[in-house]
Amino acid sequence: MKAALLTGIREFEVGDVPAPEIVKATDVLVRIKTVGVCGSDVHYYTTGRIGAQVVEFPFVIGHEASGIVEAVGEKVTNVRVGQRIAIDPAVACGHCDQCRSERENTCRELLFLGCPKQLDGSLAEFVVTDERSCFPIDDAMTFDQATLSEPLAIGVYAVEKSNLRDGANVAVLGVGPVGMCVFHVLRTRDVGSVYVTDKIDRRLEFSKELNPKGTANPDNEDVVAKFAALEPLLMDVVYECSGDPEAIRQGIHLLKPGGTLAIVGIPEVDDVAFPIHELRRKDLTIVNIRRQANCTRKAIDLLASGEVKMDSMATHHFALGEIGDAFELVANYRDGVMKAMITL
Ligand SMILES: [Zn+2]
Ligand SMILES: [Zn+2]
Repeated sequence: MKAALLTGIREFEVGDVPAPEIVKATDVLVRIKTVGVCGSDVHYYTTGRIGAQVVEFPFVIGHEASGIVEAVGEKVTNVRVGQRIAIDPAVACGHCDQCRSERENTCRELLFLGCPKQLDGSLAEFVVTDERSCFPIDDAMTFDQATLSEPLAIGVYAVEKSNLRDGANVAVLGVGPVGMCVFHVLRTRDVGSVYVTDKIDRRLEFSKELNPKGTANPDNEDVVAKFAALEPLLMDVVYECSGDPEAIRQGIHLLKPGGTLAIVGIPEVDDVAFPIHELRRKDLTIVNIRRQANCTRKAIDLLASGEVKMDSMATHHFALGEIGDAFELVANYRDGVMKAMITL
């Protein structure tokens, strides 16, 4: 089968590799139709690593995917051959203490598509995954939408975990794809005012389709002063989606006493300092978001019902042979890109 092999830093080769095969009775062989390019894929592309997860070249990356079931193991009941599905890239063991308490995102033996030394990624014609990671979709749902259900599920999970009360005023710091997914989910809830920041002005413009009350670029203005002038009692919840330690600090300054900081973004650094006295005096809660658990079906339903409309997120489409162009586009934030989709 054809696959996009990451062969070095900023180097892809599209070549032939052996197709994966069904081994376990619960395995599903999926013919991949669409793959979304995620920021984490771009980290592997530009630096060969995310923290301690280091790529050994060549390796197939990619994890936001949808496709059609090509074959199933003998015990599969969840999906049938020919069915269109969205894929949850996480494969949990299903029996450890975490899995048994519905925390599959922190499964002790968690495997993830396109993660070095775990599972080969989805930038290939076929992947094999467990049936529990396969989610049937309606005929009306596009493969782009099914693929977008992966980051949207993280938005659903972040909002569920964030102590969000009706009428809450919130800020989303960083409105790249994940920040926009959080914002989309917020728009399905009864929230008060939503404020957003980003260092890319085109992303602030893009976010206006969801009608934020205020936008600010932290490179050009004091986001805390600007939003505090509009919302003197400050925010109930801040979703940090940029991974920038400076944004974590801004988030703490933006919160009212009793507020919640949800850390969704993935910092590039290993340690982050917090203004501990402000955290303590304001009695703030910090919530960490590790991918998502049990939110894939909810994300698919939000898209299927039209409650969340995010087709505009898929700004660019590429063929597998154009993979290098797609990653350069995303790595350089060119041409107003939000989500680049690889279509197989
Ligand atoms: Zn991702
Ligand atoms: Zn487990």
